[in-house]
Amino acid sequence: VDETVTLAELKKRVQAFCGERDWDQFHSPKDLAIGIVTEAAELLAQFRFLTDEEAVRAIADSEKRAPIENELADVLFFVLRLAQRFAIDLDDALRRKLEINAEKYPVAKARGKNLKYTEL
Ligand SMILES: [Mg+2]
Repeated sequence: VDETVTLAELKKRVQAFCGERDWDQFHSPKDLAIGIVTEAAELLAQFRFLTDEEAVRAIADSEKRAPIENELADVLFFVLRLAQRFAIDLDDALRRKLEINAEKYPVAKARGKNLKYTEL
């Protein structure tokens, strides 16, 4: 469960899964990035033609939630695999990116607004 597992453990799980299948040969940075985007598109397809309210209801629906979780897991798989395969520390990367975003979106300017930083 999320509360106790570490990113290192998840990376090892993904590495073992791919290692057993001899998939390193297929997992270039480009193809893993394509994997992230195609799985993100499959996640998006779960909400196609739904209003915002219907999408919120779908994620709460026991039957519709499973395919949404599956596609989200597919996205996570490729994120973890890209990071694991090419030694990207996700904690460092996220920490740095949040620092950059905090500069772009200071709370005093960005709170409660959905504007791009160039528009703030
Ligand atoms: Mg998928």
